[in-house]
Order: sequence, then C-alpha cells, then structure tokens
Amino acid sequence: MNTETPISDSDTAKARLILEVRQGGVTDDTVLRAMESIPRPLFVPQAFQERSFENVALPIGRHQTVSQPVVVGLMTQALDLNDRMKVLEIGTGSGYQAAILSKLCRRLYTMERHPPLLEEAEARFRELRLTNVTAVLADGSMGWKEQAPFDRIMLTAAALDIPAQLVDQLAIGGIMVLPVGLDDSDQRLVKLTKTEDGAETEDLGGVRFVPLLPGVEPE
Ligand code: SAH
Repeated sequence: MNTETPISDSDTAKARLILEVRQGGVTDDTVLRAMESIPRPLFVPQAFQERSFENVALPIGRHQTVSQPVVVGLMTQALDLNDRMKVLEIGTGSGYQAAILSKLCRRLYTMERHPPLLEEAEARFRELRLTNVTAVLADGSMGWKEQAPFDRIMLTAAALDIPAQLVDQLAIGGIMVLPVGLDDSDQRLVKLTKTEDGAETEDLGGVRFVPLLPGVEPE
C-alpha cells in the first residue's frame, strides 16, 4: 500500500517558487522555512489564485500589492531576526510579509492605514493561529511610540527619506529595512543599522514599492 501523500500541482509550484527565491539570493534556511510554512494563496485575491506561487507581485485591492516573494525573502533575510526580537512592520497589506516575520521573531507589531486590508489580514492571522502578531489601524510613518524600542523595523511602503521618528524607535544595534524614493524613479532598498552615535546605511539595490501615504483612510 502506498502511504505517501501524493505530490499535488500546488506542492510542485510551491517548491519551484522556494527554489526561485533561493536562487534570487535568499540563502538563510530559517527564512526559506518560514516562507515555506506560510501559504501565499491565502493572502492573494480569488482572481489571482493560480498565480499565487509565481515569483511576482500581485494586486490585493485598494491599489496595493503583495510583494514579489524574492523581495519578501531578501528583506526578511536582511533583518537578521531571532526569536527574542520585538519587530515592527509598517504596511500590513495582505499580511503575507507579517506572517513570515512572525515565524522568526518573538512579537510582531504591524500597522496599516486601510481598514478593509487590516481586517482581512487580521482574519488570516487568526486562521493561521499567529498569536504573536498585533495589528493596528494607524499611520505607520509615526511608528508606535508606546511599544518602542524595536529590535527590527521593516517598511513595505516607500518613504521619500529615512523617517527620523522611526530611527528614534529603533534599539541601539537594531536594523531597519525600507524602500526609499519615488516608485517611478530610482527607488532603493536601504538597510540601516543604528549605532551608539548615529546610523550606518547600506544600499541593497533597486526596488518598486507603493508610496508610504500620510494619515488613515476612513472606514
Ligand atoms: N507587506 C504587505 C505589502 C504591502 S503594500 C504584504 O505583505 O502584503 C504597502 C502597504 O502599506 C499598503 O497596504 C498600504 O496601504 C500601506 N501603507 C502605506 N502608507 C502607510 C502608512 N503611512 N501607515 C501604514 N500603512 C501604510
């Protein structure tokens, strides 16, 4: 009797995606395992289900997108996380990036300015029983003072410049990864490390993210 679970088309598609993410430069096995454990189809609208294992960004409504998996992997890897860390993500969107981060840290705080996106993401966190995620409707460009300092901060919407309030909310030795610049010009992924007497930055390459917008959308 064959007791092995049959390999489905979606298993194959998922294995191919993880391989592409690895080939794209994500070599950290803990990051790859976290990505493997989070089902991307759950975060993608019905109309794009069959593309959910493709290494592409996809629309999630409200003119927003869930990032390309390889970019999610590279940004997660750049944060150099461990399970003792308190992490802030700005731009919950579908919740996909947040779900992956939550697997690699102690506590994840995530902020979103669109009420329906936040509600849908929260339902997904509940479904996956990601109990270490706290999501809130707020303008994330101000950060989350009450919960600071954070060991790590990730922005998934592009800032025009490195937001000083967010650097203030980062612990010494902490890392922030964020896209900086306009989406239709030279937008760069930046890794900032906070030091005793300032911060060091590293350019991780060109990216395309939606802009960080001010305020919160009405319900
Ligand atoms: N991390 C998301 C991708 C998000 S796209 C995912 O994995 O699906 C960027 C998100 O940032 C959008 O949902 C957008 O509404 C949100 N956003 C933009 N400006 C913001 C702000 N000031 N505060 C909080 N969220 C913001």
